[in-house]
Amino acid sequence: MGENFAFFLPVMMAGFGIAFLIIWGWGAREAGWWSGGFFSVTGGFAVPVAFAAYPTHVWGIVADLMFATGFLFFSQALLDRWRRNWMLTLRWSIWGLSLCLCALGLVLGNVPFELVASDIGCFLLISIPLIVARGQLRSWPDRALYAAATLIALDNLLRGSSVSFTLPDGVELRDSQYAFLMQALACIFGLFLALSALAASMRDVLARYRHDAHVDPLSGLLNRRGFEEAVARLQRRDAMGGSLIACDIDHFKVVNDSHGHDMGDQVIISLAQTLRLLAPADAVVARFGGEEFILLLPGIDPAAAGGIADAMRLRFAEQAAPRLGLPGILTASFGLTTLHCADRSIHDAIARADSALYEAKGSGRNRLCIRRALAMPDMVPATEGQVRRV
Ligand code: GH3
Ligand code: MG
Ligand code: MG
Repeated sequence: MGENFAFFLPVMMAGFGIAFLIIWGWGAREAGWWSGGFFSVTGGFAVPVAFAAYPTHVWGIVADLMFATGFLFFSQALLDRWRRNWMLTLRWSIWGLSLCLCALGLVLGNVPFELVASDIGCFLLISIPLIVARGQLRSWPDRALYAAATLIALDNLLRGSSVSFTLPDGVELRDSQYAFLMQALACIFGLFLALSALAASMRDVLARYRHDAHVDPLSGLLNRRGFEEAVARLQRRDAMGGSLIACDIDHFKVVNDSHGHDMGDQVIISLAQTLRLLAPADAVVARFGGEEFILLLPGIDPAAAGGIADAMRLRFAEQAAPRLGLPGILTASFGLTTLHCADRSIHDAIARADSALYEAKGSGRNRLCIRRALAMPDMVPATEGQVRRV
């Protein structure tokens, strides 16, 4: 392996260290461990190049320390995805024991022994996460990461157990087949590991941004953008059809004015929980702003949807104020409509549900009103006095 190639490895590893450092800054937790791991391994590859003029026992333990620490960080990065801090004490013990054996090998002038101790230590450190990963490899970056870590574990195991062939007596380490194999395979497998870890970290970062863009942080429900995206997904699956409910807390401004904004927030959370609890599992439930919510109930006919909306209304009226320790009662008004094939978009149905909601507000609040779509079957839920057909 040429000298230039020996320079190339630390540069490549440092490049990955920097890339992961940047991704860590974007909030991907395990990217910090990847960065530490790649920087450490950079040191492991750079030390023999920098101290090429000196014998192995002068710099060997520093390189061993860098590799062992790098692999400890790699195992921590993998376990951050699969089972955080699993067997941490055991991994630290492997790290310490392998370094002690490396030092012993160097003190005795037995370089092959030192290399075996280092390789087997690295093999054990990166193998531990592979034990718990099985059954958790749901995404393709996770599977690629598992494959790359497996290759690196096998590389260390095979290299460590074939030292007597690849580093025969009398051959200098840097001229040996051992050094050639180590550099060539580290380049290929290291690249594979780094690219899969980058893909996995980026996927997590994107998923987090996506979640933040689509979910309302106060209520945990979808926001308007999340709702529209969910509707578009249903439309693509041709699964549109069903009922739509609009809902708004009554006299909410009074809650804010009398009990403070924080209590107002608690009321919003309370209604959001009620809606989520009583909505069918496949319902799309969103906070559309302020204290207004929209629910899309795919495949639910107006009679069933009216029953669900009224159950939500009753539960909120009965439970919200006592639970939050507020005097009097808290109520919400509901408007219901059915999706119709003549609707140009979901916004037509939202406009109808909104208009039913304002009808409910205008006729006394704490009630459910229904706005029929063209050709909507004349079915209304029953709760005497609380339901109006519009
Ligand atoms: P109505 O019965 O007609 O719906 O009356 P209302 O008082 O509920 O409605 P109005 O539109 O007058 O007041 C809504 C208030 O909701 C005004 C706004 O300050 C408050 N609000 C909007 N978003 C939030 C929020 O995230 N938290 C809190 N605490 N208040 C909010
Ligand atoms: Mg209101
Ligand atoms: Mg409102």
